[in-house]
Amino acid sequence: MITTNETVSLKHEIQKNISLYINGEFTSSVSGNTIKNMNPFTNEQINEVAEGQSADIDKAVAAAREAFDHGPWKTMKLNERMAYIYRIADLIDEEIEKIAFLEALDTGLPISQTRNMVSRASENFRFYARMVESRLVGDAYQVDDEFINYTIHSPVGVAGLITPWNAPFMLETWKVAPALATGNTVVLKPAELSPLSANLLAEVIHKADLPKGVFNVVHGYGEIAGDALVRHPDVQLISFTGETKTGSTIIKNSADTLKSCSMELGGKSPIIVFEDADFDRALDACVWGIYSFNGERCTANSRLFLQEGIKDKFIEALKIRVAAIKIGDPLDAGTEVGPLIDKGHYNKVKSYLEIARDEGAEVITGDIPAEFARGNFVAPTLILNAENHMRVAQEEIFGPVLTVMTFKDEDEAVKLANDVDYGLAGYVWTNDIKRGHRVAHKIEAGMLWVNAQNVRDLRTPFGGSKYSGIGREGGHYGFDFYTELKVIHVSIDEHRIQQFGKK
Ligand code: NAD
Repeated sequence: MITTNETVSLKHEIQKNISLYINGEFTSSVSGNTIKNMNPFTNEQINEVAEGQSADIDKAVAAAREAFDHGPWKTMKLNERMAYIYRIADLIDEEIEKIAFLEALDTGLPISQTRNMVSRASENFRFYARMVESRLVGDAYQVDDEFINYTIHSPVGVAGLITPWNAPFMLETWKVAPALATGNTVVLKPAELSPLSANLLAEVIHKADLPKGVFNVVHGYGEIAGDALVRHPDVQLISFTGETKTGSTIIKNSADTLKSCSMELGGKSPIIVFEDADFDRALDACVWGIYSFNGERCTANSRLFLQEGIKDKFIEALKIRVAAIKIGDPLDAGTEVGPLIDKGHYNKVKSYLEIARDEGAEVITGDIPAEFARGNFVAPTLILNAENHMRVAQEEIFGPVLTVMTFKDEDEAVKLANDVDYGLAGYVWTNDIKRGHRVAHKIEAGMLWVNAQNVRDLRTPFGGSKYSGIGREGGHYGFDFYTELKVIHVSIDEHRIQQFGKK
């Protein structure tokens, strides 16, 4: 664990200028432009980051294309490629404390939480190496005694990976690991608001000594660098995690070059607590599920539906817990909620508190201590007396704000939970086992938890329905996206062939 002295020395280690990583080299951008990278806790500048634009994307894609078409990556023996993947995981483990620190500094996420995210990151690489070794398999079809048909998976080509700022390192590795392990080459465009850990990933992969051009990072704005990647004719895949609106723009802009897109988008996930639920566990899970990661979490249970009989008791308990959540310096190990990523996002989250009041709901929020006034803090907030048609019940706020509503019975709970555009996750709390399954089956979402907080086994599919996404990554499901499935039909006998033109 990092001590105060080590924090100071890590701060000294931060590079003044962060470069792009193209064709195995750290390089400035073609234009020489940079982006100021800000600290969400102080709103002071941390450093500057090279701003990639379309010329930089062209260079990175050319390097990735060359590495895919002519390099050894996709043709090398499986053991050899997986050795690189395991090496990346080991190198990440050596840097866990540093990455957790950079992530907390850059995003405002509390360091106790970034530590867990970073351990997941090395596991993403190990997991995908194991999956490719054990589950990247084809099927064989015996057709009478005439044919054997079989399927194989090939890497697709250059994968464009576009990631958000809310769990940067974890989400970058969540995409980079399967893309590389299946033999593709990669251009990563990390979020412009959180570049530090993506740079460290480039350093780690550089140390792992992957062949040149296999992995590239281009920092820059979404509408410029991200857009150039999306439109580039030599990129075959776009895996995107971010807002629903951006996802829709990307799908439109990738249409001319017919890319395959995987979309992990926004959410407004319900948590339904029935009267017979284990009260204390449901309370713990509900509080953690919305206020962890500063509420900037795609699967956050941002809509709470309480059965009428427990409403008063649950809300009273919530008020006590929420008021006691410890906000503070993200680098302080005791902090539970840190500052939001930037002023723009802070203003957006704050505006929803006004919207809630205007809509007639009750807003219960705390004060921010004067010592934290420079940071982008929104105190953990409850919105009571809300109704499902209100904007605060329908739109993704993406901050530490829980909208609380009630229901009479199971049918009403399901109806209200589904009456929303999004469909990423859902949580059901009841001790009636049949009802738990039944409600989970009826909720329109990609991922449901019954009597559980958001705990994931990496083998399971990850993704959402409705406005929350298209496709599934995770487990072997990611292979559908990161590989091209090919079927080979082989005749093993003399099947009949038409004889056109034969006299
Ligand atoms: P965002 O959509 O603003 O940005 C995400 C990434 O897309 C950034 O790298 C950005 O630079 C890039 N981008 C923006 N415009 C682009 C364009 N026109 N073309 C190409 N790239 C472009 O999202 P954000 O604010 O960084 O992240 C928060 C959102 O991400 C929330 O909605 C959250 O729910 C969602 N999210 C979803 C999941 C999931 O798995 N479903 C996980 C984490 C976050």
